[in-house]
Amino acid sequence: MTENIKPHSLDAPAVANALNVNPALGLSSSQAEERRKDSGPNILQSIRPRPAWRILVDQFASLIVALLGVAAAVAWTTGDVVEAVAILVVLVLNALVGFGTEWQAGRALDALRRQAHATARVRRNGAERSIDAEALVPGDIIILNGGDRVPADARLFEAAALRTEESALTGESATVNKSAEPARAETLIAERHSMLYLGTTIAAGRAIAIVTATGASTELGHIGRLVAEAPDESTPLEIRLNELGHRLVYIVLAIALAVLVAGWLRGDDFWIMVEVSISLAVAAVPEGLPAVTTLILALGVLRMARERAIVRRLPTVETLGSTTVICTDKTGTLTENRMSVREFHLSDGRRIELGGRPVSLNDDGLLTDAVRITVLCNEAALHRPSADQVEGVGDPTETALLSAAHELGMDVDRERASHPKIHELPFDAVTKRMITVHRARNGRRFIAMKGAPAVVLDASTDYSTGNSRLPLDPESRARFLNMNEAVAGRALRVLGLAGKWLDSLHSEVSDGAGLEAGFTFVGLVGMIDPPRPEVAAAIEGALAAGIRVVMLTGDQTQTARAIAHELRLTGDAPLQVLHARDLANASPEDFARIVRTTDVFARVSPEDKLRIVEALQQAGEIVAVTGDGVNDAPALKRADIGVAMGERGTEVAKEASDLVLADDNFSTILKAVEGGRAIYANITKFVHMMFSNNLAEVLAIFVAIAAGLPLPLLPLQILWMNLVTDVFPALALAVEPAERNIMRHPPRSPKTALLSRRFLILIAWQGTMLAAIVLAAYVWALSHYGEGAHARTIAFLALIGTQIGHFFNCRSRTRSAFEGLSRSPFIWVAAATMAGLQVLAFWLTPLTRVLDLSQPTMADGAVTSLTILVPIAVVELTKWVSRRQRP
Ligand code: ADP
Ligand code: MG
Repeated sequence: MTENIKPHSLDAPAVANALNVNPALGLSSSQAEERRKDSGPNILQSIRPRPAWRILVDQFASLIVALLGVAAAVAWTTGDVVEAVAILVVLVLNALVGFGTEWQAGRALDALRRQAHATARVRRNGAERSIDAEALVPGDIIILNGGDRVPADARLFEAAALRTEESALTGESATVNKSAEPARAETLIAERHSMLYLGTTIAAGRAIAIVTATGASTELGHIGRLVAEAPDESTPLEIRLNELGHRLVYIVLAIALAVLVAGWLRGDDFWIMVEVSISLAVAAVPEGLPAVTTLILALGVLRMARERAIVRRLPTVETLGSTTVICTDKTGTLTENRMSVREFHLSDGRRIELGGRPVSLNDDGLLTDAVRITVLCNEAALHRPSADQVEGVGDPTETALLSAAHELGMDVDRERASHPKIHELPFDAVTKRMITVHRARNGRRFIAMKGAPAVVLDASTDYSTGNSRLPLDPESRARFLNMNEAVAGRALRVLGLAGKWLDSLHSEVSDGAGLEAGFTFVGLVGMIDPPRPEVAAAIEGALAAGIRVVMLTGDQTQTARAIAHELRLTGDAPLQVLHARDLANASPEDFARIVRTTDVFARVSPEDKLRIVEALQQAGEIVAVTGDGVNDAPALKRADIGVAMGERGTEVAKEASDLVLADDNFSTILKAVEGGRAIYANITKFVHMMFSNNLAEVLAIFVAIAAGLPLPLLPLQILWMNLVTDVFPALALAVEPAERNIMRHPPRSPKTALLSRRFLILIAWQGTMLAAIVLAAYVWALSHYGEGAHARTIAFLALIGTQIGHFFNCRSRTRSAFEGLSRSPFIWVAAATMAGLQVLAFWLTPLTRVLDLSQPTMADGAVTSLTILVPIAVVELTKWVSRRQRP
């Protein structure tokens, strides 16, 4: 559409005309394709990731590089050109390794961001379907519901009780009423009630609109603001590790300085000692810590995404593993959300079963009324991809009703055409009912209502017996409620149906007030929604992992109880079911007690959900809560882990959440918890390894010098070792699969810090042990070969040997290093790489010369093997002892 046409001030049909589209059919695929060539993809300029060259350049702006630069300069000025060049090579290699990790981490993060792509419901080729929002073009007819994100700028064609939230565009947080009436030409964007704008959301109601602008041509595109700014991705753990890293730098520098002074005082060459202490500092500074942590997080999260659990914010990962309660909704998460109508219970007492004996609508006025209500008070659509196939689009409850009507022989399209809809009150989770107003024959009005049985009965004053209407007295109301309970008790989802027939005299009433009373009850419809097959096992798994599962459902008590029972929600323990009504008057103390003991909350509103989550949190629980609607957003935000549904969820709910389940499946939450635990475990392993190894390096050299032994390692040897033993094992630990029994123990308390006292003590004694082994090997070598290159070669081999051995130890703090090794091929690959690089160092003559290594003897080989095996043996022994003490 050209700039000078102002769609907000035109009639909707005129806009359709200008955009050359028939709103009833939408664009054809070929038209859409053609237009896309002009309009381009419907995307805004996104935040560009840090370019590769920048990441590379940034590698050189580090302390390590500065230190290595000084070391190279020292080597150069003292006339050791080969050494200087070698140090520069190390410097470049270090930067490249850093670049590699950071680039990988960045790519993984990008991949995560890309998963969050939006979809839009669009009418094309005469049928409705869901497409990637990126593929929208001007002229597309889009259908929007409460909670949707507006995917492009669009002119309203139909609006029912439509309100939008436009703060992203106008800064105004109050919701705005919208209608399809043209607005005056000179109105400002914030007042164009006939338009929907990209970046805003539908707060309530329903809309059909024509896309007028996409991507950069939209109003949002004009202001050039970004819808989704990349949030800060640092997790609390990363921040803590980073801080620790910074503190360690000073400690390491102090030790390096002490080494320098000590060596110099006892008469070693000053410049050599400068290089040694710099190399030591380079080796001991945990420079890889932030990048590797991010990488472990990002790789772990990508792995979770393959399991259909999409983590929207990295910090979530840490909390996930500590989850103690999962509050889950029922429909679609525990159940398939593949509804099918089982039976109608009519108000004359008849029960009509579907799927059995053929039923016909002919001459059955009451059944026709009931089915008509399900068809008219319904925003789903049926279409026929082929002659013998019908497919529903929209809410599963409603598509099920359409399929049933179709099966019963009602012509859905004709029924709708002969009863044009003129007004509607859409379904929402608070009112639990939907009402539509239709034009009927001879200027009459027909009002249809469907919803929770109790709500529908409350709005009804009489009931139909087919031929006549009887007042809905307490006795008949009780009868219908009993009927409802009986159906719900069989785990069926039940809706009440009612209608109101007005003659033309009353037609004015029908557009506004008085819509919610005076109905005639016509019956109930019961549908099944089978539990998802994998959920029962997942619930059992949750219980084994010390996680309580609580069902929060908008559905009624009986249905909820029946499903909870079927799924063994509480295992062998008795099931506590509560109607949300009983929460209303509970005192805070009662409330706190109730949430701790109740397993199923029925008829909850989104506000109840929020209160329940808050009460659980006050009781010290770490709460994951699922949600899909706009109204769920507060509870999702409040929860420790907000879980939104990928398929069924609204965009608003997704944005408020931390985790999105691509398949809406409860079991996926559990996989995410497992993923969270595994990632945390892998970070722990990596931190364990890095800190104990670095401590060992520093200690070995420091103690050797303090004890008056000749210098055990040369600067380049230290640097080489640092290159070889840091990255590969870290990466291998990063991709380790979860321990087999990771979901067999209770959640980690979020209060225990990663670097707890116990962990620090563990790191301290193990680092000391490694250093002792290295020193023992060196002392042996000194006594065997005397001071010089050969003895240093042994110290070098011993240090690398202990690190290879300890690498296996770090796979677990409590369990044997050999457990599950066959499932971790990368552990072997990393160990082999470390060993292989050593062989290379001895085999490649120039490298051997630069590193000043002597060819090892058989005895040296044996000693080296011991340095690998002894740390494993010692740590295995301590693990075994502590396992025996605390089984
Ligand atoms: P849940 O997802 O927890 O099963 P919902 O919030 O979807 O519950 O639905 C709550 C109740 O609202 C349902 O039990 C039903 O009575 C009613 N309901 C659900 N969907 C519709 C609809 N499309 N139209 C009218 N009423 C509905
Ligand atoms: Mg629902």
